[in-house]
Amino acid sequence: MANQTVLDQETFETFRNWRVNRAQYAKEWKERTGGKVMGYFCTYAPEELMYAAGILPVRILGSHEVQDVTEPHIFAMFCPFCRDCLAQGLKGRFDYLDGIMIAQSCLHIRQSFTSWQKHIPTDYSYYLPMPHHVQSPRATPFLTKELEVFKQSLEKWLGKGIDDQAIDDAIAVYNRNRQLMWKVFELRKGDSPPLTGEEAMEVVLSSQMVDKQDHNAALERLLAQLSKRETTRPTGTRLMILGSEDDDVEFINMVESCGATFVIDDHCTGTRYFWNNVEPDGDPLPRIAERYVKRVPCPTKDWPNRTRVAHVLELAKSYDVQGAIVMQQKFCDPHELDIPALTKALNEAGIKTLFLEFDVTVPIGQFKVRVEAFLEMLQEDELF
Ligand code: SF4
Repeated sequence: MANQTVLDQETFETFRNWRVNRAQYAKEWKERTGGKVMGYFCTYAPEELMYAAGILPVRILGSHEVQDVTEPHIFAMFCPFCRDCLAQGLKGRFDYLDGIMIAQSCLHIRQSFTSWQKHIPTDYSYYLPMPHHVQSPRATPFLTKELEVFKQSLEKWLGKGIDDQAIDDAIAVYNRNRQLMWKVFELRKGDSPPLTGEEAMEVVLSSQMVDKQDHNAALERLLAQLSKRETTRPTGTRLMILGSEDDDVEFINMVESCGATFVIDDHCTGTRYFWNNVEPDGDPLPRIAERYVKRVPCPTKDWPNRTRVAHVLELAKSYDVQGAIVMQQKFCDPHELDIPALTKALNEAGIKTLFLEFDVTVPIGQFKVRVEAFLEMLQEDELF
Protein backbone atom coordinates (compact mmCIF):
# COMPACT_ATOMS: atom_id res chain seq x y z
CA MET A 1 0.00 0.00 0.00
CA ALA A 2 1.38 3.39 -0.97
CA ASN A 3 0.05 5.57 1.84
CA GLN A 4 2.60 6.85 4.39
CA THR A 5 0.69 6.44 7.55
CA VAL A 6 0.36 6.06 11.29
CA LEU A 7 -2.39 3.55 10.63
CA ASP A 8 -1.97 0.08 12.03
CA GLN A 9 -1.19 -1.74 8.80
CA GLU A 10 -2.61 -4.92 10.30
CA THR A 11 -6.07 -3.43 9.97
CA PHE A 12 -5.88 -3.38 6.19
CA GLU A 13 -4.11 -6.72 6.16
CA THR A 14 -7.15 -8.20 7.89
CA PHE A 15 -9.37 -7.24 4.92
CA ARG A 16 -6.80 -8.39 2.37
CA ASN A 17 -6.27 -11.71 4.14
CA TRP A 18 -9.99 -12.34 4.22
CA ARG A 19 -10.19 -11.78 0.46
CA VAL A 20 -7.11 -13.85 -0.39
CA ASN A 21 -7.80 -16.64 2.12
CA ARG A 22 -11.58 -16.73 1.72
CA ALA A 23 -11.72 -20.55 1.63
CA GLN A 24 -9.78 -20.88 4.87
CA TYR A 25 -12.01 -18.27 6.53
CA ALA A 26 -15.19 -20.08 5.46
CA LYS A 27 -13.90 -23.47 6.64
CA GLU A 28 -12.89 -22.05 10.02
CA TRP A 29 -16.23 -20.24 10.28
CA LYS A 30 -18.04 -23.56 9.75
CA GLU A 31 -16.00 -25.24 12.47
CA ARG A 32 -16.57 -22.31 14.83
CA THR A 33 -20.33 -21.95 14.31
CA GLY A 34 -21.55 -25.28 12.94
CA GLY A 35 -23.38 -23.27 10.26
CA LYS A 36 -23.60 -23.82 6.51
CA VAL A 37 -21.95 -21.76 3.78
CA MET A 38 -23.94 -20.67 0.73
CA GLY A 39 -22.24 -19.42 -2.43
CA TYR A 40 -24.28 -16.83 -4.25
CA PHE A 41 -24.08 -15.33 -7.72
CA CYS A 42 -24.94 -11.65 -8.19
CA THR A 43 -25.68 -8.98 -5.58
CA TYR A 44 -29.45 -9.34 -5.80
CA ALA A 45 -29.17 -12.36 -3.46
CA PRO A 46 -31.09 -11.53 -0.24
CA GLU A 47 -28.26 -12.24 2.16
CA GLU A 48 -30.19 -11.11 5.23
CA LEU A 49 -32.53 -14.08 4.94
CA MET A 50 -29.69 -16.58 4.67
CA TYR A 51 -27.82 -14.98 7.55
CA ALA A 52 -30.97 -15.17 9.69
CA ALA A 53 -30.95 -18.93 9.05
CA GLY A 54 -27.40 -19.24 10.45
CA ILE A 55 -25.88 -19.43 6.96
CA LEU A 56 -22.75 -17.59 5.84
CA PRO A 57 -23.45 -16.16 2.37
CA VAL A 58 -20.26 -15.82 0.28
CA ARG A 59 -20.01 -14.21 -3.13
CA ILE A 60 -18.72 -16.44 -5.92
CA LEU A 61 -16.03 -14.50 -7.77
CA GLY A 62 -13.39 -15.45 -10.33
CA SER A 63 -9.61 -15.66 -10.04
CA HIS A 64 -8.41 -13.80 -13.19
CA GLU A 65 -6.35 -16.85 -14.25
CA VAL A 66 -6.30 -18.41 -17.69
CA GLN A 67 -8.59 -21.46 -17.67
CA ASP A 68 -9.75 -24.14 -20.11
CA VAL A 69 -12.38 -25.98 -18.06
CA THR A 70 -15.58 -24.09 -18.92
CA GLU A 71 -15.62 -24.60 -22.69
CA PRO A 72 -17.80 -27.77 -22.60
CA HIS A 73 -20.33 -26.06 -20.31
CA ILE A 74 -20.71 -22.44 -21.27
CA PHE A 75 -20.53 -20.57 -24.56
CA ALA A 76 -17.24 -18.74 -25.10
CA MET A 77 -19.14 -15.58 -25.99
CA PHE A 78 -20.56 -15.34 -22.51
CA CYS A 79 -18.82 -12.74 -20.37
CA PRO A 80 -15.39 -13.67 -18.95
CA PHE A 81 -16.57 -12.99 -15.41
CA CYS A 82 -19.28 -15.65 -15.48
CA ARG A 83 -16.91 -18.17 -17.11
CA ASP A 84 -14.25 -17.40 -14.51
CA CYS A 85 -16.78 -17.96 -11.69
CA LEU A 86 -17.80 -21.33 -13.10
CA ALA A 87 -14.15 -22.29 -13.53
CA GLN A 88 -13.63 -21.84 -9.79
CA GLY A 89 -16.38 -24.35 -9.10
CA LEU A 90 -15.15 -26.84 -11.71
CA LYS A 91 -11.64 -26.62 -10.25
CA GLY A 92 -12.98 -27.42 -6.77
CA ARG A 93 -12.01 -24.09 -5.24
CA PHE A 94 -15.40 -23.71 -3.58
CA ASP A 95 -15.54 -27.27 -2.26
CA TYR A 96 -16.48 -25.90 1.17
CA LEU A 97 -19.88 -24.66 -0.05
CA ASP A 98 -22.96 -26.45 1.29
CA GLY A 99 -25.24 -24.75 -1.20
CA ILE A 100 -25.48 -22.27 -4.05
CA MET A 101 -28.15 -19.77 -4.98
CA ILE A 102 -28.83 -17.01 -7.47
CA ALA A 103 -31.29 -14.16 -7.69
CA GLN A 104 -32.08 -13.57 -11.37
CA SER A 105 -30.00 -10.84 -12.94
CA CYS A 106 -28.42 -11.49 -16.34
CA LEU A 107 -28.52 -14.62 -18.51
CA HIS A 108 -24.76 -15.06 -18.51
CA ILE A 109 -24.36 -15.45 -14.78
CA ARG A 110 -27.49 -17.58 -14.65
CA GLN A 111 -25.78 -19.97 -17.05
CA SER A 112 -22.84 -20.22 -14.61
CA PHE A 113 -25.32 -21.10 -11.87
CA THR A 114 -27.12 -23.69 -14.03
CA SER A 115 -23.87 -25.35 -15.14
CA TRP A 116 -22.65 -25.40 -11.53
CA GLN A 117 -25.95 -26.97 -10.44
CA LYS A 118 -25.57 -29.69 -13.08
CA HIS A 119 -21.90 -30.51 -12.89
CA ILE A 120 -20.63 -29.70 -9.39
CA PRO A 121 -22.09 -31.78 -6.55
CA THR A 122 -23.76 -29.47 -4.01
CA ASP A 123 -26.15 -30.33 -1.22
CA TYR A 124 -28.58 -27.47 -1.94
CA SER A 125 -29.30 -25.07 -4.80
CA TYR A 126 -31.94 -22.41 -5.28
CA TYR A 127 -33.00 -20.12 -8.10
CA LEU A 128 -34.79 -16.98 -6.86
CA PRO A 129 -36.89 -15.24 -9.55
CA MET A 130 -35.91 -11.68 -8.71
CA PRO A 131 -38.11 -9.48 -10.95
CA HIS A 132 -36.54 -7.52 -13.80
CA HIS A 133 -39.21 -4.84 -13.94
CA VAL A 134 -38.24 -3.33 -10.58
CA GLN A 135 -39.90 -0.04 -11.48
CA SER A 136 -43.30 -1.77 -11.48
CA PRO A 137 -45.45 -1.23 -8.35
CA ARG A 138 -45.93 -5.02 -8.35
CA ALA A 139 -42.21 -5.74 -7.98
CA THR A 140 -42.00 -5.53 -4.16
CA PRO A 141 -45.12 -7.68 -3.50
CA PHE A 142 -43.86 -10.18 -6.10
CA LEU A 143 -40.44 -10.44 -4.49
CA THR A 144 -41.96 -10.63 -0.99
CA LYS A 145 -43.85 -13.78 -2.05
CA GLU A 146 -40.72 -15.21 -3.62
CA LEU A 147 -38.80 -14.55 -0.39
CA GLU A 148 -41.47 -16.47 1.53
CA VAL A 149 -40.94 -19.45 -0.80
CA PHE A 150 -37.16 -19.15 -0.45
CA LYS A 151 -37.52 -19.00 3.34
CA GLN A 152 -39.63 -22.19 3.33
CA SER A 153 -37.05 -23.90 1.14
CA LEU A 154 -34.23 -22.92 3.53
CA GLU A 155 -36.28 -24.12 6.51
CA LYS A 156 -36.84 -27.48 4.86
CA TRP A 157 -33.17 -27.85 3.99
CA LEU A 158 -31.97 -26.86 7.47
CA GLY A 159 -34.74 -28.65 9.36
CA LYS A 160 -35.53 -25.60 11.49
CA GLY A 161 -37.69 -22.48 11.35
CA ILE A 162 -36.46 -18.94 10.69
CA ASP A 163 -38.41 -16.54 12.92
CA ASP A 164 -38.98 -12.81 12.43
CA GLN A 165 -36.68 -11.92 15.31
CA ALA A 166 -33.79 -13.74 13.65
CA ILE A 167 -34.52 -11.90 10.38
CA ASP A 168 -34.67 -8.55 12.19
CA ASP A 169 -31.35 -9.29 13.88
CA ALA A 170 -29.79 -10.18 10.53
CA ILE A 171 -31.13 -6.96 8.99
CA ALA A 172 -29.58 -4.97 11.85
CA VAL A 173 -26.17 -6.61 11.30
CA TYR A 174 -26.33 -5.96 7.54
CA ASN A 175 -27.54 -2.39 7.94
CA ARG A 176 -24.74 -1.73 10.41
CA ASN A 177 -22.26 -2.98 7.86
CA ARG A 178 -23.69 -0.64 5.23
CA GLN A 179 -23.57 2.34 7.59
CA LEU A 180 -19.94 1.65 8.43
CA MET A 181 -19.08 1.22 4.74
CA TRP A 182 -20.71 4.59 3.97
CA LYS A 183 -18.64 6.23 6.70
CA VAL A 184 -15.45 4.81 5.21
CA PHE A 185 -16.49 5.89 1.71
CA GLU A 186 -17.51 9.38 2.91
CA LEU A 187 -13.89 9.96 3.93
CA ARG A 188 -12.92 9.59 0.28
CA LYS A 189 -14.72 12.85 -0.52
CA GLY A 190 -11.98 14.91 1.15
CA ASP A 191 -9.04 16.59 -0.63
CA SER A 192 -6.66 13.91 0.64
CA PRO A 193 -8.63 10.69 0.93
CA PRO A 194 -7.19 8.69 3.84
CA LEU A 195 -7.45 5.45 1.90
CA THR A 196 -6.59 4.50 -1.66
CA GLY A 197 -9.01 2.94 -4.12
CA GLU A 198 -7.10 -0.31 -3.73
CA GLU A 199 -7.59 -0.27 0.03
CA ALA A 200 -11.28 0.59 -0.40
CA MET A 201 -11.63 -2.35 -2.79
CA GLU A 202 -10.08 -4.74 -0.27
CA VAL A 203 -12.56 -3.52 2.34
CA VAL A 204 -15.67 -3.92 0.17
CA LEU A 205 -14.62 -7.21 -1.44
CA SER A 206 -13.87 -8.85 1.89
CA SER A 207 -17.31 -7.82 3.15
CA GLN A 208 -18.77 -10.20 0.56
CA MET A 209 -16.80 -13.16 1.91
CA VAL A 210 -16.91 -13.02 5.69
CA ASP A 211 -19.40 -12.91 8.52
CA LYS A 212 -20.71 -9.35 8.70
CA GLN A 213 -20.23 -9.28 12.48
CA ASP A 214 -16.50 -9.90 12.01
CA HIS A 215 -16.45 -7.32 9.22
CA ASN A 216 -18.29 -4.74 11.32
CA ALA A 217 -15.76 -5.10 14.15
CA ALA A 218 -12.88 -4.62 11.67
CA LEU A 219 -14.62 -1.60 10.09
CA GLU A 220 -15.02 0.03 13.50
CA ARG A 221 -11.29 -0.45 14.17
CA LEU A 222 -10.51 0.94 10.72
CA LEU A 223 -12.69 4.04 11.16
CA ALA A 224 -11.09 4.83 14.51
CA GLN A 225 -7.69 4.72 12.85
CA LEU A 226 -8.57 6.47 9.58
CA SER A 227 -9.54 9.65 11.41
CA LYS A 228 -5.93 9.84 12.67
CA ARG A 229 -4.22 8.72 9.49
CA GLU A 230 -1.48 11.02 8.22
CA THR A 231 -1.51 10.77 4.46
CA THR A 232 1.55 11.96 2.61
CA ARG A 233 0.76 10.17 -0.63
CA PRO A 234 -0.34 12.75 -3.26
CA THR A 235 -3.95 12.19 -4.34
CA GLY A 236 -3.24 13.11 -7.98
CA THR A 237 -6.15 12.87 -10.39
CA ARG A 238 -9.45 11.92 -8.75
CA LEU A 239 -10.97 9.01 -10.62
CA MET A 240 -14.19 7.05 -10.64
CA ILE A 241 -14.54 3.50 -11.97
CA LEU A 242 -17.78 2.29 -13.52
CA GLY A 243 -18.87 -1.09 -14.73
CA SER A 244 -20.20 -4.51 -13.80
CA GLU A 245 -18.01 -6.82 -11.72
CA ASP A 246 -14.61 -5.41 -10.89
CA ASP A 247 -12.48 -7.15 -8.30
CA ASP A 248 -9.16 -6.66 -10.05
CA VAL A 249 -6.99 -5.26 -7.27
CA GLU A 250 -3.89 -5.39 -9.50
CA PHE A 251 -5.55 -3.10 -12.06
CA ILE A 252 -6.58 -0.56 -9.40
CA ASN A 253 -3.04 -0.62 -8.01
CA MET A 254 -1.55 -0.04 -11.47
CA VAL A 255 -3.79 3.00 -12.14
CA GLU A 256 -3.09 4.51 -8.73
CA SER A 257 0.66 4.07 -9.25
CA CYS A 258 0.36 6.41 -12.28
CA GLY A 259 -0.55 9.48 -10.20
CA ALA A 260 -4.25 9.03 -9.52
CA THR A 261 -6.62 7.92 -6.79
CA PHE A 262 -9.94 6.17 -7.23
CA VAL A 263 -12.31 8.08 -4.97
CA ILE A 264 -15.56 6.32 -5.83
CA ASP A 265 -17.10 3.61 -8.05
CA ASP A 266 -20.35 2.35 -9.40
CA HIS A 267 -19.98 -1.38 -9.88
CA CYS A 268 -21.52 -4.44 -8.30
CA THR A 269 -18.45 -5.51 -6.33
CA GLY A 270 -18.27 -1.93 -4.98
CA THR A 271 -20.89 0.62 -3.99
CA ARG A 272 -23.83 -1.11 -5.69
CA TYR A 273 -23.35 -3.95 -3.21
CA PHE A 274 -23.91 -1.92 -0.05
CA TRP A 275 -25.43 1.45 -1.02
CA ASN A 276 -29.05 0.91 0.12
CA ASN A 277 -30.34 -0.06 3.54
CA VAL A 278 -33.29 -2.19 4.60
CA GLU A 279 -35.90 0.00 6.35
CA PRO A 280 -35.77 -0.73 10.10
CA ASP A 281 -39.49 -1.18 11.00
CA GLY A 282 -42.36 -3.41 9.87
CA ASP A 283 -42.68 -6.96 8.54
CA PRO A 284 -39.18 -8.11 7.64
CA LEU A 285 -39.75 -9.86 4.30
CA PRO A 286 -41.48 -6.92 2.53
CA ARG A 287 -38.72 -4.65 3.83
CA ILE A 288 -36.01 -6.92 2.48
CA ALA A 289 -37.89 -7.15 -0.82
CA GLU A 290 -38.18 -3.39 -1.01
CA ARG A 291 -34.46 -2.96 -0.42
CA TYR A 292 -33.54 -5.20 -3.36
CA VAL A 293 -36.19 -3.70 -5.63
CA LYS A 294 -35.15 -0.10 -4.85
CA ARG A 295 -31.39 -0.51 -4.63
CA VAL A 296 -29.05 1.14 -7.12
CA PRO A 297 -29.87 -0.95 -10.17
CA CYS A 298 -27.80 -3.14 -12.43
CA PRO A 299 -28.47 -2.11 -16.07
CA THR A 300 -30.44 -5.36 -16.51
CA LYS A 301 -33.15 -3.85 -14.31
CA ASP A 302 -32.83 -0.14 -15.03
CA TRP A 303 -35.81 0.36 -17.34
CA PRO A 304 -38.03 1.92 -18.63
CA ASN A 305 -36.54 4.92 -16.77
CA ARG A 306 -32.78 5.07 -16.78
CA THR A 307 -32.03 5.94 -13.15
CA ARG A 308 -28.41 4.81 -13.00
CA VAL A 309 -27.11 7.71 -15.09
CA ALA A 310 -28.39 10.32 -12.61
CA HIS A 311 -26.96 8.28 -9.71
CA VAL A 312 -23.53 8.08 -11.34
CA LEU A 313 -23.54 11.82 -12.06
CA GLU A 314 -24.46 12.56 -8.46
CA LEU A 315 -21.61 10.35 -7.22
CA ALA A 316 -19.18 12.02 -9.61
CA LYS A 317 -20.22 15.45 -8.36
CA SER A 318 -20.18 14.70 -4.66
CA TYR A 319 -16.81 12.93 -4.82
CA ASP A 320 -15.31 15.69 -7.02
CA VAL A 321 -14.35 13.27 -9.78
CA GLN A 322 -12.05 14.51 -12.57
CA GLY A 323 -12.15 11.48 -14.85
CA ALA A 324 -13.95 8.15 -15.14
CA ILE A 325 -12.70 4.75 -16.25
CA VAL A 326 -15.55 2.84 -17.82
CA MET A 327 -14.69 -0.83 -17.70
CA GLN A 328 -16.67 -3.51 -19.39
CA GLN A 329 -16.48 -7.28 -19.15
CA LYS A 330 -16.14 -8.44 -22.75
CA PHE A 331 -19.52 -9.55 -24.22
CA CYS A 332 -21.50 -8.05 -21.32
CA ASP A 333 -24.55 -6.76 -23.16
CA PRO A 334 -26.37 -5.13 -20.23
CA HIS A 335 -23.48 -2.84 -19.42
CA GLU A 336 -22.51 -2.28 -23.03
CA LEU A 337 -26.00 -0.88 -23.63
CA ASP A 338 -25.58 1.55 -20.71
CA ILE A 339 -22.18 2.85 -21.73
CA PRO A 340 -23.21 5.36 -24.48
CA ALA A 341 -25.71 7.11 -22.19
CA LEU A 342 -23.29 7.12 -19.26
CA THR A 343 -20.38 8.40 -21.32
CA LYS A 344 -22.50 11.14 -22.91
CA ALA A 345 -23.82 12.33 -19.54
CA LEU A 346 -20.36 12.33 -17.93
CA ASN A 347 -18.75 14.12 -20.88
CA GLU A 348 -21.49 16.76 -20.88
CA ALA A 349 -20.76 17.28 -17.18
CA GLY A 350 -17.11 17.93 -18.08
CA ILE A 351 -15.84 14.50 -16.95
CA LYS A 352 -13.75 12.71 -19.55
CA THR A 353 -13.95 8.93 -19.80
CA LEU A 354 -11.64 6.09 -20.75
CA PHE A 355 -13.24 2.86 -21.97
CA LEU A 356 -11.44 -0.43 -21.23
CA GLU A 357 -12.63 -3.90 -22.07
CA PHE A 358 -11.74 -6.58 -19.50
CA ASP A 359 -11.22 -10.27 -20.16
CA VAL A 360 -10.50 -13.10 -17.70
CA THR A 361 -6.90 -11.92 -17.56
CA VAL A 362 -6.23 -8.20 -17.71
CA PRO A 363 -3.38 -6.92 -19.93
CA ILE A 364 -1.92 -4.63 -17.30
CA GLY A 365 0.97 -3.43 -19.53
CA GLN A 366 -1.29 -2.41 -22.45
CA PHE A 367 -3.79 -0.81 -20.12
CA LYS A 368 -1.04 1.14 -18.39
CA VAL A 369 -0.10 2.91 -21.62
CA ARG A 370 -3.72 3.93 -22.17
CA VAL A 371 -4.24 4.98 -18.57
CA GLU A 372 -1.08 7.13 -18.61
CA ALA A 373 -2.24 8.86 -21.81
CA PHE A 374 -5.68 9.45 -20.26
CA LEU A 375 -4.22 10.92 -17.08
CA GLU A 376 -1.87 13.14 -19.09
CA MET A 377 -4.85 14.48 -21.04
CA LEU A 378 -6.74 15.21 -17.80
CA GLN A 379 -3.72 16.92 -16.28
CA GLU A 380 -3.31 19.11 -19.38
CA ASP A 381 -6.99 20.06 -19.12
CA GLU A 382 -6.39 21.18 -15.54
CA LEU A 383 -3.69 23.59 -16.73
CA PHE A 384 -5.97 25.48 -19.12
S1 SF4 B 1 -20.52 -8.76 -16.40
FE1 SF4 B 1 -22.43 -8.41 -17.51
S2 SF4 B 1 -22.85 -10.32 -18.59
FE2 SF4 B 1 -21.31 -10.74 -17.01
S3 SF4 B 1 -22.46 -11.44 -15.23
FE3 SF4 B 1 -22.21 -9.23 -14.99
S4 SF4 B 1 -24.02 -8.26 -15.95
FE4 SF4 B 1 -23.92 -10.40 -16.63
